Amino acid sequence: MVFDVIARVEPLTTTRKLSGPFDYLPPADPVGVGSVVRIPFGRQRLDGVVVDLAAASEVPEDKLVRATGVRAESVPEDLVELALWMAREYCSTPARALALVLPPPGRERTLLWAERTAAPLDGERLTGNQRALLDRLPGPAGEDLAALRRLEARGLVAVAPRARRRAPRTNAADDRAVALTPEQEAAVAAVRGGGSHLLHGVTGSGKTEVYLRACADALAAGRGVIVLVPEIALTPQTVARFQARFGDTVALLHSALGEGERYDEWRRLRTGAARIAVGPRSAVFAPVARLGLVVIDEEHDGSYKHEGDPRYDARHVAAERARRAGAALLAGSATPRPETWRALPHLKLSSRVDARPLPPVRVLDMVGAQHPLHPLTRRALQAARKSIVLLNRRGWSNFLTCRSCGKVWECPQCDVALVLHRAERAIACHHCGHRERVPDRCDACGSLAVARYGAGTERIEAELREALDVPVFRLDADTAATKDAVPELLARFHAAPAGLLLGTQMVAKGHDFPDVTLGVVLDADSTLRFPDFRAEERTFALIAQLAGRAGRGPEGGRVLVQTTAPDAPAIEAASRHDADGFLAGELERRRALRYPPFADLIRVVASAEAPDPVRAAGARLAEAIAGAVGPRSEILGPAPLFRLRGRERRQVVVKTTQREAAIRATAAAVGAAARDRALRDVAFSVDVDPQ
Ligand code: ADP
Ligand code: ZN
Ligand code: ZN
Repeated sequence: MVFDVIARVEPLTTTRKLSGPFDYLPPADPVGVGSVVRIPFGRQRLDGVVVDLAAASEVPEDKLVRATGVRAESVPEDLVELALWMAREYCSTPARALALVLPPPGRERTLLWAERTAAPLDGERLTGNQRALLDRLPGPAGEDLAALRRLEARGLVAVAPRARRRAPRTNAADDRAVALTPEQEAAVAAVRGGGSHLLHGVTGSGKTEVYLRACADALAAGRGVIVLVPEIALTPQTVARFQARFGDTVALLHSALGEGERYDEWRRLRTGAARIAVGPRSAVFAPVARLGLVVIDEEHDGSYKHEGDPRYDARHVAAERARRAGAALLAGSATPRPETWRALPHLKLSSRVDARPLPPVRVLDMVGAQHPLHPLTRRALQAARKSIVLLNRRGWSNFLTCRSCGKVWECPQCDVALVLHRAERAIACHHCGHRERVPDRCDACGSLAVARYGAGTERIEAELREALDVPVFRLDADTAATKDAVPELLARFHAAPAGLLLGTQMVAKGHDFPDVTLGVVLDADSTLRFPDFRAEERTFALIAQLAGRAGRGPEGGRVLVQTTAPDAPAIEAASRHDADGFLAGELERRRALRYPPFADLIRVVASAEAPDPVRAAGARLAEAIAGAVGPRSEILGPAPLFRLRGRERRQVVVKTTQREAAIRATAAAVGAAARDRALRDVAFSVDVDPQ
């Protein structure tokens, strides 16, 4: 059959069982690639995205149905293509990937706007009030609407609705004009030449200034920019500096925006009213036309990985988007990932702009220590007016155990130990949120000797409060539960004349507190004990980032690192501020173990409530993938994982040096398993490049 046009539509549904696109007759309104349409689908009506237009369909004419409505906002064509690439790259589905690039819901808010017409006022009889009113135009009609309507009737004024922007609230910053250092100059010139670069420099070395200049270059060339930052709540200063320099041409995109704000910011980008998108990982999908530059600030940050489906990595997607758009890519960090270090040419900023040295780092050996604070740490904390203490949630969790029979209280849903929250007298699961009261006695043996082991943030906080007389500000997932809690707590710490900021990884990220003179890492090696190939990298980054937080003011500062593994390469290199040395050694280790970037990892998890189908699914996957890949891919598993949220789980990991073939084989195996009726209760999740 030949038609004028057939719209090929991907229905927005989450199931893996469908494989689109499906052909529809176009609706009455004009459509193009990226249009969001309404379609009849079986007995339902769904939204769908037009991914292609065709002249003919294989569907017989009497079977073709018509799409109905078209949404006012459409997805830019390049983002449709990017989403389809993501669906393939992450073994997801087009619908799930397209959901990430959809226009946000909402509509414009308007107000009535009045302006003078060209009609001359000579000879018009006007009252003093009317003259005053005409003098204040153009402007919103507001309370003068009635008077303006009368002038409108006389042809002197035009009143019409006009879009009214809902602008996100942001911090103020001043913009200083600075002369670039020779290293900054070289970096900006390199970015101007295009391609991808790593900007490696410690905190305060002037990386943000390089981003700002590169951004100005792109704008001057008529191109748009995307600036990715870790969570906005933790990096308000970076955002503020972009706004201070570029004003309203900056659009802010993040999850804490209200619906109206998000819609307006998206639309300002879509229409070209704004040319720079700043935001966390999802800003990689900002509708910026003629993209000329993508900046990834703090490129090592774990928040760039999305844990929903598709499990995309905004850094990888940014690189692909930049490649497709012919845009430059600039990834910056003081502690770059080994992958980035190896893949991109380096631009180096070798010292802090103010030439202030990095604080000395002292490693304190905690082998055999009885007390969580080393005597030197205690003394240093007592002497410092303002300090930051970092502990790893994982390393410092409290578990509840029975001293008589050894019972450990576990989550009934997840098979992990419950964590004690002393203040609420509760034990809670950090995976699913299950909570229960702290028991008075052991339900296994009846003993009253229920012990509380460990030293979580709460216990450390109590100890510190006792030992010090400065206020303690605790920042962790519990205190950060609401969206404003983090900036508020940081602002209070910033304003306090004296105080101690205590928390998990969050305290080491991008803040700038000039009067902090002491940074302490408790149990630095707890990240190392995790069976994870990124353990070394994380440990190094944590210490180095904390060192970047201390001693930014005239008083200087120092860092103390408590550890039971003082000779671990990551800790030793961090204490020397030796990123180059660490990365060289770490890359050798990765090469020997065939870990990224020397091989790619793909992780598939099958889960269901009952164990049998999960076991079957694991075996099926491993077999199907093994049968489809060549000798350059290794299959690990299927291996059981701990039960999570009441679901049994099994995982298969593919370690490969043939990325594309392995992704294809995995997608095919998962697709076949998802369509298998015997496995209908099993859910599959694929993680390409797991963190
Ligand atoms: P980073 O992003 O690496 O932490 P910034 O760009 O924030 O570094 O620079 C740290 C401080 O130094 C900022 O206050 C910035 O305004 C200032 N700065 C940056 N470059 C220069 C320069 N070339 N001359 C003077 N001050 C500079
Ligand atoms: Zn017991
Ligand atoms: Zn749980």
